[in-house]
Amino acid sequence: MPKRRFIAGAECPSCKALDTVFVYLDSRLPTFECAKCGHKEVLVPSETVDEKQANVDVVKIIEP
Ligand SMILES: [Zn+2]
Repeated sequence: MPKRRFIAGAECPSCKALDTVFVYLDSRLPTFECAKCGHKEVLVPSETVDEKQANVDVVKIIEP
């Protein structure tokens, strides 16, 4: 199960409720979701940037 982290003082852009939105990692992408209305947004629009960074990390690990 993904870890949920509620955001204190955050307002849902859909239903305008306070303190009902939380962030969790959905296959590496931080996803923002409202527990009240179910509104969902992926916070990082392009995952290609994330994959490039992961490749750089792998190269760094291989080369001492
Ligand atoms: Zn909501």
